[in-house]
Amino acid sequence: LYNQVQDLKGNIRVYCRVRPFLPGQSNLSTVGHIDDGSITILTPPKYGKEGHKSFTFNKVFGPFATQEEVFSDTQPLIRSVLDGYNVCIFAYGQTGAGKTYTMSGPKVLTEQSFGVNYRALNDLFHISKERKDTFCYEISVQMIEIYNEQLFLLKFSPFCPRKPLHVDTLDIRNSSQTGFAVPDANSVPVTSTTEVIELMDIGQKNRAVSATSMNDRSSRSHSCLTIHVQGRELASGAFVRGSMHLVDLAGSERVNKSEVKGDRLKEAQHINKSLAALGDVISALAQKSSHIPYRNSKLTQLLQDSLGGQAKTLMFVHISPEADAISETLSTLKFAERVAMV
Ligand code: ADP
Ligand code: MG
Repeated sequence: LYNQVQDLKGNIRVYCRVRPFLPGQSNLSTVGHIDDGSITILTPPKYGKEGHKSFTFNKVFGPFATQEEVFSDTQPLIRSVLDGYNVCIFAYGQTGAGKTYTMSGPKVLTEQSFGVNYRALNDLFHISKERKDTFCYEISVQMIEIYNEQLFLLKFSPFCPRKPLHVDTLDIRNSSQTGFAVPDANSVPVTSTTEVIELMDIGQKNRAVSATSMNDRSSRSHSCLTIHVQGRELASGAFVRGSMHLVDLAGSERVNKSEVKGDRLKEAQHINKSLAALGDVISALAQKSSHIPYRNSKLTQLLQDSLGGQAKTLMFVHISPEADAISETLSTLKFAERVAMV
């Protein structure tokens, strides 16, 4: 079983990924030494005399790591979904640090640049075919956006554009019996990656808040692609159910309270609250604490069944190499280190 590989490594892991410089950016990097599991950030004097700070994670991917390399370290986790495990993969970091790149890929996709979500689905379809003589698998997907502590189930139908379905707390709570986070009414059966890419495109267009170029809503909401897998063992008729949540989190940057007002401030407060709640849940799980504070945000409520217990969690933390991102980079790495502390 794929799970046995995993067990050796523990149920909570944190990977760090450094974005390369983008065309036109000056190449003064704050990233010093990187090895397999640690990263050193070069800091200006106001952060202390040493001039550098080091952080340790389960794995660090430098700016030249390919999508394929990043995925191959994630693969065993994904495969355990077919054996009935629940998996959560999060992308954390300030806006522009590469969260969407890791999860989905760049805007213009090539096979090489496919992100974790497409590769994961490809793998799931591939293995389920390999096992077709012993298991019959059904795979379905749903997409949820959390914006200002409200949940929206994104419609996959091209016939009802811009009408995400609002889901309330009650729906989340009632779900534990079924093992699905929210009613799977809008969970769409899928049989190929191409189909999923089309659905996700429609889902994206149906997001709750409309985009303007200045006001990119995708950076201020959490978007969660959930893949439900149900397998029936042909010989015994027994079912295995697993799920995978791929979460592209809202940007973690702190906004200056004196500069933002109204909607923007409200958004920022909701984001801070939910990211802090997520950090609290994961670090409570890592410390095997008896009380896990799931109730403090919609995000952690939504994922409650898939965080903790037998479930497996992977957090990708993203940082930008630019000098003017240093303060966000340090706070991102501190957050991640707290989460990773076991
Ligand atoms: P976020 O989702 O965190 O706001 P994006 O994933 O949109 O950030 O990345 C910002 C920009 O940097 C995009 O143009 C993206 O294609 C590019 N980018 C991010 N990570 C990488 C990477 N590892 N390699 C090449 N380009 C990247
Ligand atoms: Mg993004």
